[in-house]
Amino acid sequence: MTVPSNVSAFAAGLAADALPAYVYDLGALRTHAAAVRAALPAGVELYYAAKANPDTAVLEALRSSVDGYEVSSAGELAHVRQAAPDAPLAFGGPGKTPAEIAAAVAAGVHRWHVESVQELYQLAAALDGEQRVDVMLRVNVPVAEGSLESVALAMGGRPSPFGLDPAAVASALALLAGPIGQQLRLRGIHAHLGSGLSAAEHLAVTEQIVNWSAALATRHGLRFDEVNVGGGMAVDYAHPSARFDWVEFGDGLGKLLDRRPELRLRIEPGRALTAYCGYYATEVLDVKTSQGEHFAVVRGGTHHLRTPATKGHDQPFAVVPVEEWSHPWPRPGAAGRVSLTGQLCTPKDLLAQGIPVAEVRAGDRIVFAMAGAYAWNISHHDFLMHPHPGFHYL
Ligand SMILES: *Cc1c(COP(=O)(O)O)cnc(C)c1O
Repeated sequence: MTVPSNVSAFAAGLAADALPAYVYDLGALRTHAAAVRAALPAGVELYYAAKANPDTAVLEALRSSVDGYEVSSAGELAHVRQAAPDAPLAFGGPGKTPAEIAAAVAAGVHRWHVESVQELYQLAAALDGEQRVDVMLRVNVPVAEGSLESVALAMGGRPSPFGLDPAAVASALALLAGPIGQQLRLRGIHAHLGSGLSAAEHLAVTEQIVNWSAALATRHGLRFDEVNVGGGMAVDYAHPSARFDWVEFGDGLGKLLDRRPELRLRIEPGRALTAYCGYYATEVLDVKTSQGEHFAVVRGGTHHLRTPATKGHDQPFAVVPVEEWSHPWPRPGAAGRVSLTGQLCTPKDLLAQGIPVAEVRAGDRIVFAMAGAYAWNISHHDFLMHPHPGFHYL
């Protein structure tokens, strides 16, 4: 693949001992997020799921395009509050501790994504007599067989620790119809059922979530104003130039809202907002051929960029040639299919496998793309005690 020239030039200009480094193209991120926002109709709120990448500069760059942030721990809550003090927050996540609940009550979050009946009791117990909070019930909404077939990570539509089982929703509603409901105001249903959905697939799932929620409300004589249909918009690591079709998605949501003008929809993508703005730049340390296969060993590895190991893909990259070679010994190199590996003493430290390259030599730079989400922040940084990467913002 090719990486934008501003990024490859920056990576080429970094000294070898300043590598590896994460490079975030904040200008590109702002442009992308603004295009996503522009594709969505009024009536759709855009929240960013901070767990995809909570880097402060990334959160700040998104601020003008998002309506709020979804946080899933007290740590994320405190961090996002600091980066975007005025932004509405939705607080979700399974297994909230009493301390986290207390912290989120104190912070005054905009929406609670409640994951169980017990959590309703816990939240109510954490409030004093005057306090009111707005809750969404996270439900493992049943969807038609096949709706989540292509999904990379299914959170719902099958047995799941996330959210309420549909069978438990009636008791949650009964609880909210009682005294607890004075303080916990039910605003609607939240469902995040999987990731890796195309626009058409997400629209089909969204429609089912909305219909299920409307039927639930009718059955119980309630009115929900809000449905949060989660994130999970696809990012295709095998096709770096492909993008989730936000225009198609926005059009589809617009049609859905035309039929239900009273409804407010909320989405909370993570990966599809920030994956493309991040790069992991490094240097080739050595190149060798083992039993006919070429390996380029780079500074760093999957302890900084765990995404390919976690998802089982080849991280897309570009070779940025460096002509200078100041050593007296022969320069290691290879052409053809090469696997890129890191410095960890494990065969799992594989960033890309058997990818054709024109040439790769020790001293060349490698710029891995699509490293802006679930990359640095999900990696096992201290395994083997190599130095952490630098961070740079364009
Ligand atoms: C992880 C997560 C998201 C974001 O998912 P992406 O696949 O990054 O878009 C949104 N909502 C919830 C509840 C999540 O757990």
